[in-house]
Amino acid sequence: MTSANERRLGDRIARELYRDPDYLDDPVLADYVQGIWQPLLAAARQRGDLSAELDERFAWQILLGRDRTVNAFALPGGYLGLNLGLLAVVSSRDELASVLGHELSHVTQRHISRLIAKDSQQTPWVIGAMILGALAASKNPDAGNALIVGGQALSAQNQLNFSRDMEREADRVGFGVMTQAGFEARGFVTMFDKLQQAARLNDSGAYPYLRSHPLTTERIADMQSRLPLGSVHSPQVMTPTTLHAMMAARAQVLSNPGVDALRSWQTLVNDPGLPGQPAAQQAGALYGAALAAIRLRDSAVARGDWQRLQALVGTDPGAAQAVRWLGAEIDLAARDLSLPQTRALATSLGLDQTTADLRRPELILQAQAAMQINQVDTLNTVVQNLQRWLAARPKDALAWQWLASLYAAQNQSLRALRAEAEAQAARLDYAGALDRLKAAQEHVLASGASSTSASHIDASIVDTRLRQITALLKEQTLDH
Ligand SMILES: [Zn+2]
Repeated sequence: MTSANERRLGDRIARELYRDPDYLDDPVLADYVQGIWQPLLAAARQRGDLSAELDERFAWQILLGRDRTVNAFALPGGYLGLNLGLLAVVSSRDELASVLGHELSHVTQRHISRLIAKDSQQTPWVIGAMILGALAASKNPDAGNALIVGGQALSAQNQLNFSRDMEREADRVGFGVMTQAGFEARGFVTMFDKLQQAARLNDSGAYPYLRSHPLTTERIADMQSRLPLGSVHSPQVMTPTTLHAMMAARAQVLSNPGVDALRSWQTLVNDPGLPGQPAAQQAGALYGAALAAIRLRDSAVARGDWQRLQALVGTDPGAAQAVRWLGAEIDLAARDLSLPQTRALATSLGLDQTTADLRRPELILQAQAAMQINQVDTLNTVVQNLQRWLAARPKDALAWQWLASLYAAQNQSLRALRAEAEAQAARLDYAGALDRLKAAQEHVLASGASSTSASHIDASIVDTRLRQITALLKEQTLDH
């Protein structure tokens, strides 16, 4: 299978995953994961594992899923799925890097295209459907069994299973990539320990990652032998950093939204034993409790937890920023700030700066704050920040969505429709994008909007995008 065909197959699968209600673009978690993923990609390039051709051709995107099951999986075309369930159980960024490095290496070593080539009677369309079926099955073990009985998903499960040699290669290359990227080698081994412990427990289906990556004693011995001489392998889990503990707690809250689960966080932080725990663990509990309280719409409790968290974390440079973002989330969700207070919050999010290197969670929080302030100058500033961001990253669907909302607040209907179209296109939904662009064209006709030169430019952008996306949709339909 050529890399171009594999990418097309990956796009088809990704388009379905973007539509899945479990798909989640949480800017804070996505930012944390990117901080691990980008160094891994850079290391794979440096080592020559990632060729220039694949680098250019494939998507190299991570799709987060709200699912609670512990799973990460490589998909065709350089897409990777990562469940919040896995984020919630890893104890350090090094452990997460070991899983991502392994999955990345399945892609760079072309294991997927080799698997698909083996089953050459199937059309890519059928293979795509089978992979989606297997993913659905891995989410819900009960529904999964029903599907497997149905027949086709059974072979789909085999589709996703790499051979032992492939697993060994992904371990070897992944280990090289993660250590070259500066992560602790021990993370690879502690991750194995963690999976092995889970394997000893009754397999409740909560660890699909284990089923697709069976642990053999050989694999484990192999990994331990890679550790530098003299480093003692201790079976204890790695100590999480404060930031990691908070991000794992965030993943846990977002993947477990039931009221009882959310309430249990408060019980945890009210436990008199908590202050005796390691600081990172306390921070994780307080972060989770504050976030859970937002979900329960209890801003007083959220603020109380947040203040304890802030006092605990203090000026820890890695963690302070995440605590600040959480504070902004609490304030914006409470919607009880006065206008000057909201403005002060917006300023603290960097809204008055015209700097180009905003972090993504900050940009999205700015957009939320601007919607609440709803005043001309604030809207203008954030619209400019979003435009600058999107000029460099035109595939950021969430940023397009916020830009559409801000344009609507500015009564710029034509631009809002175009931004909505771009959000759909970024998630590979070209039919949805065309629908928005046609609505934009009708708007131009109905309002005579092209009479001024500025809106004439907007109208011609809409025409151009309509032609381009029509062509993309045609290509997408031909693939079937
Ligand atoms: Zn694997």
